[in-house]
Amino acid sequence: MATFKAIVVDKAGAGQTVRLADFDEKDLMDGDVTVRVEWSTVNYKDGLAVTGKAPVVRRFPMIAGVDFSGTVEVSSHPNWRPGDKVILNGWGLGETHLGALAQKARVKGDWLVRLPAGISSRDAMAIGTAGYTAMLAVMALERAGLGPGRGPVVVTGAAGGVGSVAVALLAKLGYAVIASTGRPEEASYLKGLGATEILDRKELSGPARPLAKERWAGGIDAVGSTTLANVLSMTRYGGAVAACGLAGGMDLPTSVAPFILRGVSLLGIDSVMCPLPLRQEAWRRLETDLDQSKIAAMVSEIGLDEVIAAGQRIVEGQVRGRIVVKIG
Ligand code: NDP
Repeated sequence: MATFKAIVVDKAGAGQTVRLADFDEKDLMDGDVTVRVEWSTVNYKDGLAVTGKAPVVRRFPMIAGVDFSGTVEVSSHPNWRPGDKVILNGWGLGETHLGALAQKARVKGDWLVRLPAGISSRDAMAIGTAGYTAMLAVMALERAGLGPGRGPVVVTGAAGGVGSVAVALLAKLGYAVIASTGRPEEASYLKGLGATEILDRKELSGPARPLAKERWAGGIDAVGSTTLANVLSMTRYGGAVAACGLAGGMDLPTSVAPFILRGVSLLGIDSVMCPLPLRQEAWRRLETDLDQSKIAAMVSEIGLDEVIAAGQRIVEGQVRGRIVVKIG
């Protein structure tokens, strides 16, 4: 019996169990590429999955983990050969397909992105799904006509994973970045990533007025709920806001006023089912537009045996930046 180590979530009555366990290779799901996983991460969604705080896992037993980087071991897919370095984000890993927090994964070759030459396997997961989502959000703002000359951009949940990468990307691209955080002690960290101004998240957390004083040309929001409503109500005429998260709640108590009176656009960002060409573009852009020296400031490294505790910390909003998980 060939087994490998994995974070396994299983059903237990109305709840669930989660443990680091030996998983039998013969129980891997169908796929045309088998990958030796080298690095994974703990994203907010992984935290929800391992704590059971939200119904992320939809098949049991499940291996948790929505993203990995690694090396192809076996492939019958025309694009991939043994030895190729690959990245996978989303596509239901850790939800409906056995996931990434494991030494091995069997997946569809169509889901894989080639590791860019200028990004190491470790840095790919230091960026992870959070960072790739931040890049998708920046690209969406650009498609909506935003550029550094249009005015500042606000980033909410700034000290978290999506937020940290968004701040670093926008700063490198020349934007003035307003970083909204509930952790004032992280001000110097956020300034180090390139934020020009720190905003207390309390200013964005109360009920939103239909329209408030115009403060920014755009935003990247990882929080949702009243925070996103306030961001929209403070966006300048013709601006755009990319919504990618729900760390503060799934609701959106807003009005149509920002849209019909200020021509503001609300842009939805999904990383999970995002089409391959857009993913490839996002990873190309991460290679050039993310200052790699900033990655070191954002990342902390753990082993598979520390993932469950880290999952708890991330849903409690206690994680700064990104967590990379050493697997290989
Ligand atoms: P993190 O936990 O790293 O960051 C979330 C941040 O949000 C926290 O660090 C905190 O920032 C802020 N926050 C947490 N709780 C609250 C609250 N109650 N009210 C206001 N702010 C809060 O998570 P990630 O960066 O990994 O993910 C962020 C969000 O983006 C999650 O909801 C995640 O599910 C979503 N996401 C969506 C993707 C997509 O495809 N659309 C892909 C990846 C992530 P601070 O301390 O600075 O205030």
